[in-house]
Formats: sequence, structure tokens, C-alpha cells
Amino acid sequence: MDETTISREALFANLKRVVLKLGSSVVTAEEGLDRQNIRSLVDDVCRLKQAGKEIVIVSSGAIAAGVKRMELKGGAKTIPQKQAAAAVGQTGLMAAYEEAFWSHGVRVGQLLLSKDDLSHRRRYLNARNTLMTLLSWGVVPIINENDTVMVEEIQFGDNDNLSALVASVAEADLLLILTDMEGLMDCDPRTNPSACLITLVEGITPEIRSLAGSSTSAVGRGGMASKLEAASKAGAAGVPVVIARGKIPSVVDRIIAGEMIGTLILPGKERISARKRWIRYHLEPEGALVVDAGAARAVKLSGKSLLPIGVTAVRGLFQHGAAVTIETEHGQTIAIGLSNYASDEMEKIKGHQTAEIDWVLGFRRNDEAVHADNLVLLDNGENSR
Ligand code: GLU
Repeated sequence: MDETTISREALFANLKRVVLKLGSSVVTAEEGLDRQNIRSLVDDVCRLKQAGKEIVIVSSGAIAAGVKRMELKGGAKTIPQKQAAAAVGQTGLMAAYEEAFWSHGVRVGQLLLSKDDLSHRRRYLNARNTLMTLLSWGVVPIINENDTVMVEEIQFGDNDNLSALVASVAEADLLLILTDMEGLMDCDPRTNPSACLITLVEGITPEIRSLAGSSTSAVGRGGMASKLEAASKAGAAGVPVVIARGKIPSVVDRIIAGEMIGTLILPGKERISARKRWIRYHLEPEGALVVDAGAARAVKLSGKSLLPIGVTAVRGLFQHGAAVTIETEHGQTIAIGLSNYASDEMEKIKGHQTAEIDWVLGFRRNDEAVHADNLVLLDNGENSR
């Protein structure tokens, strides 16, 4: 991690498109929306726009702002309360952005997304086209999760995750995640006051993940672990990420000018194709294939297709073409892939030689249970979603 080998200034010199993720703690304060900080961030964004860059904002803060506006003592506790708070807060949030941008003569557009919108090809393309059209109009898209209708199954989880998907959809050159933490520290700053900021991460290793611990943000949903998860997703699309504190004067300008603020995470060597990113990050697994040790080795170490003979158990009900996880007999998820057979078909052909598929099923759709082209390995220590 030798910062001298990499110049941020050079890396950021030719940025064209930046996704800026603003956490709840960045856009709200004790008394509600932090209009002053919003204005200051918007000033930075408008300067970047003037310099010819395109900016997409992913903003949290709806629930936090709604809680303040409704004066809910003790916060929003139940899901309906959170959703109702988001409904109230989102309008105030957008009004604050609109006012700040309008003072620069810049228009904004609101996109509220749910996970479903990015996991169905047609809706994904639709969202992407809308985003690209707004950018071509010079409008700043402001994206949040559609909190008012989210239920667990269609939830992004947190806006860190959403911002990484947006960076990939928008083909951004940089994802800038602003939060209430300095960045990634070399040990827990709550228990160790001499903790130091790590300014550069080249690839997210298990050691790096362990530094994030289980820290969570005081206001928003995600902590440092979810930010690293987001950085890993963005990295798979080749997008570098900076994680930094969002209440520093001119923070966006200064980071993009190359100042050493926050943690810069470079994409690892492991780029994955758009197709595999789609399988890995957008599709929701509908079941699981449990595989024996030999098949697990072939898939994991040699990147081979999974054959029916290696499958020992099938979980869940799914159609052919569905996303499934591939798990070892010890319960470790090693990959996600598209199943060539439906769950009931897989149940019949599991443990059989490929040549036997015809007589077991009466037809053979493919030789493999999951073809290597449709299979994405998971890193050690990575969440399956
Ligand atoms: N979408 C939520 C909001 O606007 C925030 C989610 C998060 O904290 O990541 O309040």
C-alpha cells in the first residue's frame, strides 16, 4: 500500500462521470436537514459540472429527515413508520437539493429505485436510459431507494450497495462515498485513539475486510463493511472508490483535485464482464445446488462448468435459467450461476453422468448443470449478495 506509487491527481485528472453517494449523516444534522452542508456539496458539484464532468448523486437521508420533521421521539421503529418517515423526508430532501442547485441554474431529477428495477433486464435498461437521458440534458440525477414501498425481498439493503450498482449502470469513472467516518482505519478508532487512516487500498483482501469490523453508521444503514462491499462491486466494474468524511469544507472538489482525503480503493485485477456482473449483483438467487468436493474444486480452482454428476442436493424451486448459489456440503457458498435445468429436473439428474441426462429426463437441454460462462466465483469472506 505505497501511496507514493499512485498519484490521485493523475488518476482523477480525466474523470468524466462521477457517482457521489451522500450518507444520511452528511445531509442531516441534529435539527433535521443540514441545508448548509447540502449547499456546500452542491456548490462543489456545480463547479465539477462547469469543468465538463457529469455527476450522479445517490442520496440517503429521507428517513432521518422525516423522523426529524415528524418529531418522532426515539426515531422510526417499525417498518411502516420508517416508510412513512421516508415519504415525508424524501420531499424535503429533494426540495433542499432543488433549491441549492437552482441557485446555480442547474436542474435535478429524482429517481427512486427498488432492487427489482435493476434485476429485470427490461426495467434495468429503462432505468439506465432514463439516467443517460438526464445526463445528456445536463440534469443532475438524484437517486434514492424507493423506501416507501420496499420490503426485505426487494431491498438494496443500504445506499452503499445501491451506489455501487448505479456506478456500474452509469459506467462511472469514480464512486465517491461520503459518510461520517474518515475512511478505512488501520484499527478501531473507538477503542484505539491512535488509529491511522489507510489512504490507499489496492484490492479488497480478507485482511482489509477484517479492518472494517462491524462498524455501523450512527444515522444511516450501512457501516464500513457495507462500504467495502460496495467498493468491491464497483471494483468488479473497474470503478475506483473513495470513502471519506462528508462534512469537510469543499470535500468533493478537494478529493477530485487529488488531495489525500479519505481512503482510495482501486479496483482489483479481477474485472468481471458485464454479463457476469449482472448475474453476480443484480439477480436474486432462487435456490441452491449443493456440490461434492470434487466439483467444488473444479469450479473454484479451475473455473470449470458444474456438471450434474457433481450435484448432491437441490434446494428451492426454480425454473431453468434462474440464478442459483453453488454451495459445498459444508454450507460454504462458492459461486452464483444460471442453472440450465429447473429444480425438479435437477433433482432427477443430480449425481448422473452427462451422457445419462437423455434417458433420465427424456431430453438434454445442455451438458452442464451450470456453464462456466454463466458462473461467477465469490471471493473468500465476501457476502453472497
Ligand atoms: N434510503 C434510506 C434513506 O434515504 C437510507 C439508506 C441508508 O442509510 O443506506 O433514508
